[in-house]
Amino acid sequence: MRYISTRGGMPPKTFSEILLSGLSPDGGLAIPEVYPRVTAVELHAWRDLSYQALAFEILSRFIDDIPAQDLRKIINKTYTAEIFGSADITPLKTLEPGLHVLGLSNGPTLAFKDIAMQLLGNLFEYQLTKTGGELNILGATSGDTGSSAEYAMRGKHGIRVFMLSPLGKMSRFQTAQMFSLQDKNIFNIAIRGVFDDCQDIVKAVSNDHAFKESRHIGTVNSINWARIVAQVVYYFKGYFAATKTNDEQVSFAVPSGNFGNICAGHVARMMGLPIKRLILATNENDVLDEFFRTGVYRPRTTFETQHTSSPSMDISKASNFERFIFDLTGRNAQQVKELWSAVDQGKPFDLLQTPLFAKIQDFGFVSGSSNHAARIETIRDIHQRYRVLVDTHTADGLKVGQAHRETGVPLICLETALPVKFAESIQEAIGREPERPADFENLEDLPQRFVVKDADVEAVKAYIDEFGRAQ
Ligand SMILES: *Cc1c(COP(=O)(O)O)cnc(C)c1O
Repeated sequence: MRYISTRGGMPPKTFSEILLSGLSPDGGLAIPEVYPRVTAVELHAWRDLSYQALAFEILSRFIDDIPAQDLRKIINKTYTAEIFGSADITPLKTLEPGLHVLGLSNGPTLAFKDIAMQLLGNLFEYQLTKTGGELNILGATSGDTGSSAEYAMRGKHGIRVFMLSPLGKMSRFQTAQMFSLQDKNIFNIAIRGVFDDCQDIVKAVSNDHAFKESRHIGTVNSINWARIVAQVVYYFKGYFAATKTNDEQVSFAVPSGNFGNICAGHVARMMGLPIKRLILATNENDVLDEFFRTGVYRPRTTFETQHTSSPSMDISKASNFERFIFDLTGRNAQQVKELWSAVDQGKPFDLLQTPLFAKIQDFGFVSGSSNHAARIETIRDIHQRYRVLVDTHTADGLKVGQAHRETGVPLICLETALPVKFAESIQEAIGREPERPADFENLEDLPQRFVVKDADVEAVKAYIDEFGRAQ
């Protein structure tokens, strides 16, 4: 399996060669030269596999330059009942016949990002051990991504994490989750500023190529291909759990932000998994819903990006979306390059008057958006009807998913976080706070480990210089 760039400017590379890199040198995203197709015989054989065995079957199709026995070890070490709360890893909850919630949020930080990030941590460690390399991961977070990365990389050999967050701007729970980590390779840097200041610092450091090279700076952002491919696995797992035979089709509803999660669903469908619809749900930040309804992709400015009660979907442009457009154009890298030359300047593109707009249907995509009132109502309604409590992001998925539900087609809504992370909205919906998992009982009282810095690139660089090498 070789990987190429969505903009056509990268010679084919192996999985290990793209594992540690972010963007391709030409500004595009890495994507498989062809999607592996799953035969009917294979699909039949996979139905009863454990999560780990299924993950190996799928991942080994994309990762063929890590010896099979090593890959199996990495997978078995990643997906354990201990880390993910059950042997199922992603248990399916049935609300009523034909309506399900796929539990993706039972990892260490109680959000679905753990599923990919935990694998990434082990893949990075494996790779760095093999090459004797080191990696300083630099990131900016307003919540979920940062903690998910830290819990995946804690204690990992050859890896340090420098995570910037806006001082005093995350929820107490999220802050405590990150800052209570005492691992020597985790560095929490609280910035006197807002999230965009953090993001700007990361960009400035990454654009200093000499510094980036010499200090082995890397990222774990959502365009990383390994994260996408790890997420393909649970689409298969969810499909098998919700159906009896492989003649059946299902639809998935996916709370979306950067298009990473639903991109994995798209890949699963391209591999031959019988998915009828991929139902994309946004919150008030509806840049993706707008595209799938109107053909216009209009990235927003940070100024236009709203702060909502499903904050992990508050995005102004969707970094993984380029991968889908690459496939939509029939893998026409030249066309992608032209479209993104507009996007990279903050300009929209419009496919409505082109043959591509009609083709969206062939890929199974439909969409809708949600808002605060709908989200609160959905949490209340699901709780009342099924005695199941969902978080604000999952509620957006359920809201839009139910609007597109078809009789005879099982609908699987992806649960992307647990309600405990968004206690305020739960209180608003059902009049009481969600229960806390036992491990998180006294989270906010634990000692915290972090430094405070001004929103100053040089100050952050100096800090990395001091701590970003083997002590
Ligand atoms: C990251 C995140 C999303 C959005 O996922 P994408 O892969 O960026 O589309 C949705 N819900 C939660 C809770 C998240 O953390």
